[in-house]
Amino acid sequence: MAIIERIEVFLVDVPTIRSHVLAMATMNSQVLCIVRLHCSDGIVGVGEATTIGGLSYGPESPETIKLAIETYFAPVLEGIDATRPAQAMARLSAHIVGNHFAKCAIETALLDAQGKRSRLPVSELIGGRVRDRLPVLWTLASGNTARDIEEAEDMISRKRHNAFKLKIGKRSLEDDVAHVAAIKRALGDSASIRVDVNMAWDETTAARGIDMLADAGCDLVEQPITRSNLAGMARLSARARIPIMADESLTGPTTAYDFATHAGAHVFAVKIEQSGGLLAARQVQAIAEAAGVALYGGTMLEAGIGTVASAHVFATFARLPFGTELFGPLLLTDEILTTPLEYADFSLKVPDSPGLGIDLDEDRIAFLRRDAPRKTISIPSTQ
Ligand SMILES: [Mg+2]
Repeated sequence: MAIIERIEVFLVDVPTIRSHVLAMATMNSQVLCIVRLHCSDGIVGVGEATTIGGLSYGPESPETIKLAIETYFAPVLEGIDATRPAQAMARLSAHIVGNHFAKCAIETALLDAQGKRSRLPVSELIGGRVRDRLPVLWTLASGNTARDIEEAEDMISRKRHNAFKLKIGKRSLEDDVAHVAAIKRALGDSASIRVDVNMAWDETTAARGIDMLADAGCDLVEQPITRSNLAGMARLSARARIPIMADESLTGPTTAYDFATHAGAHVFAVKIEQSGGLLAARQVQAIAEAAGVALYGGTMLEAGIGTVASAHVFATFARLPFGTELFGPLLLTDEILTTPLEYADFSLKVPDSPGLGIDLDEDRIAFLRRDAPRKTISIPSTQ
C-alpha cells in the first residue's frame, strides 16, 4: 500500500501568443493551478486546474482552487490509500460539495500516480482507449476578420487544423454573422466553421442568429443562451437547421442527464474540469451515448497536463463526430512539458507511456511560478 503523503499546489502564469477575445473576457495570459500529489512509495502524480478568464466563465478561479485544495481537500486526502483513486474521490465528494475544477485536478494527479504505479496509461485505467489520435480544431478569436482568415489559412497549410471555432456574441448579431460568413467564404469547403456564443444571446436573438448562421455555412452553434435555460435550449434545438451544442450548461452527469432527457442539445461538449473529473466526464459521455447525443471533446484552455488528461478521456470515446478542441498548449507562449504534445495531420497524438505519459519541464515551471523570486534589477559583476 502507498499513502498520500503531501499535496503541493502552486500557480503558474503563462502569456498567450495573442489576445484571445471571448464574449465575456479577453485573455492575454493563462493561470495554471498545478497539483503535485506525493505518495509514500515515491511516486508523484500531477494534475492541473485552469479556468477561462479568472472568474468570468464559472464560479472557480485558479486562486480559489489553490485555496480550496490546501485548506479543505488536503486534510481529507493526506494519509489515505493512494492506490485507490476512486475511493479517494468518493471520500472527497462525501466531504466537499461542488468544486469540480479542483476535484478534477486531484483526480488527474491520483490517476497519473496510479498509472505510473501500475505501468498503464490513464486511458487504459479508466476503461481502455479506442483511438490513439484525436482531431483538434483551432479557435479563431483575434477579434479581427482579416487576421482570423490569415491565421486559418496558415493552420490549414501546415496541416495543423482544418476545423475552426469562432468566438462570437460580443458584437452586434449582424456584425458577428458578417464575420462568420467572410471567414467561411474565404476558406470554402477546406474547413468546417463553428461558432461559440458563450451564452451572450437571449432566446429571440439566438433563434434569428442560428438561422442566419446556417445560411452563412456555419456547421454548429455552441451555447447560444444562458447555461440554466434548458427549456430555451430545447426550443432552439428543435427548430435549428444546424446542430446546437451545450457547453457551459453541462456541469457533470446530473445536468447532462437533464439535457439528454429534455433534448436540450444535439451535441455535448464534454470537459473533464466542468464534469468534476475524468470519471465524471466518462459518465457524461455514457449519458450522451444512451440518449443519441453526439460528442465533442472540450477544453478549458488547459496547458499540457490538463490537455493530456482530457485526451486520455476522449481516447476512450467510441464515437467523437465533432472532434476536440484540445489546442490549449498551442495558445501559450511557454511549454511546460519536456516533450511537447505532438500535433500533426490535424490531430493530437495521445501519449501511451504510464500515467499521463508526460514529464514536466521543472526549470521552466520554476521560472513561471507566481511565487518565484523576481529580479527587478541586475547588478553587473565586478571584474
Ligand atoms: Mg464553449
